[in-house]
Amino acid sequence: MGDLYCAAIREKSGLKMHDKFKEECGVFGIFGHPEAANMTYLGLYALQHRGQESAGIAASNLKDVVVSKAMGYVADTFSGETLSALQGSVAIGHVRYSTAGESKLANAQPILIDCAHGQVAICHNGNLVNARELRDQLVRQGSIFQSSTDTEVVLHLYARSRAGSVEDAIVESVSQVQGAFSFLLLTKDSLVAVRDPHGFRPLALGRLDEAFVVCSETCAMDLIGATYIREIEPGEVLVISDSGLRSIKPFGPAPLAHCVFEHVYFARPDSYVFGMSVNEVRTNLGRILAREQRIDGDVVVPVPDSGVCAAMGYADEAGIPLRMGLIRNHYVGRTFIQPQSSIRHFGVKVKLNPVRSILEGKRVVLVDDSIVRGTTSRKIVRMVRAAGAREVHVRISCPPTISPCYYGVDTPQRAELIAATHSVEGIRDFLEADTLGYLSLQGLLTAVGSRSGSFCRSCYTGVYPVESPRDEQGYLQLALKLDKESVSQR
Ligand code: SF4
Repeated sequence: MGDLYCAAIREKSGLKMHDKFKEECGVFGIFGHPEAANMTYLGLYALQHRGQESAGIAASNLKDVVVSKAMGYVADTFSGETLSALQGSVAIGHVRYSTAGESKLANAQPILIDCAHGQVAICHNGNLVNARELRDQLVRQGSIFQSSTDTEVVLHLYARSRAGSVEDAIVESVSQVQGAFSFLLLTKDSLVAVRDPHGFRPLALGRLDEAFVVCSETCAMDLIGATYIREIEPGEVLVISDSGLRSIKPFGPAPLAHCVFEHVYFARPDSYVFGMSVNEVRTNLGRILAREQRIDGDVVVPVPDSGVCAAMGYADEAGIPLRMGLIRNHYVGRTFIQPQSSIRHFGVKVKLNPVRSILEGKRVVLVDDSIVRGTTSRKIVRMVRAAGAREVHVRISCPPTISPCYYGVDTPQRAELIAATHSVEGIRDFLEADTLGYLSLQGLLTAVGSRSGSFCRSCYTGVYPVESPRDEQGYLQLALKLDKESVSQR
């Protein structure tokens, strides 16, 4: 993302959080297109689901790099005027996950600096697990940070590098960070894509006429008419310049750990992620869930939007009709003001409304992708029951989430994950559902097929492929400290 700290800050400060996991950013870059900033704007538009707090674009006219970024949705952030100020044939862009309330413009990306190696802008999807140590060292050596993001650490390492070339300085700096990173860097005359050796976050390469495109998900290529070429390989540094493509592999061998939750929930179903169709994997999750957690029902109802593909698979496999018994309002913006009334389940009702004619008198199989704290799921179960459902059977298209993510996904502390502290029966009881069934870990891995060994599944197992921050409490305290510092500087 990379804001190592924002999730923790929200938790500690008591700011309202939605009871859903949140992706921590999307990136888009293009090299060799006369309208690079406009293309990046469209690419970010397609990646908006990966982050809604802020959006930014940096562009180069081969002499100077200019950046424009602001809080809010992509469509609200850029006007024709701001885009026309972003001249040049090379650009990178970023969308960042939304935080409730306080301003975080200091953390918006791309971050642009000017140093001995010249101007460089960076944007990041992922999370660096050793940012705290590196930051402490750099601060002791005199570095002054302008944000509380882990990403900024890379820029300080880059600025301090004594390497003889820009490329070597980039390689030297990214070689010192650990964790999850899909970086895009923009120099005045090149676009550099970097993916960590585990390949946690997706990053794909495509082509649009003579231009090269790099982005988090292929849905961004579809919008601008670009063609998918391949994944940026885990551990690859791909330099795109007038000399063409140069691939560097500076990292040692590491086990692959693609985030399986991209397929479960984050990525758009019309994307290919880690070389696989998200729709296909997600529908398979539903099919396998139906085999493992069969229940007699009258209708299968997805929790929209993320539960739709799995519900389709479930309904197909179980031979139960799929019905859209919950309708989502897509126009609930960040600025929605909740009135001071005591309407029951108000927060959920703004987003979802039940269709009584579908639910009344029915045995409903309610399919969703995950349960975080359980509070929203309980409201939805109550809502479905209040609309007349005779029975409500909850089916979840992934295993119980028992452990936080340190690789770029905003999860609460372990103690707040309901599956970390409750049995499945205890969760069912909390949700007030008639039955509750989760997909098994084996079922999840079967759905991603023969490459199942290359996926991270730490949030379901508590076993981490890359060492997590040394202690969760210390990590949270640092988060608070850094946030206070960043707030007081504004
Ligand atoms: S811990 Fe879970 S959410 Fe995080 S990278 Fe691994 S699979 Fe994805």
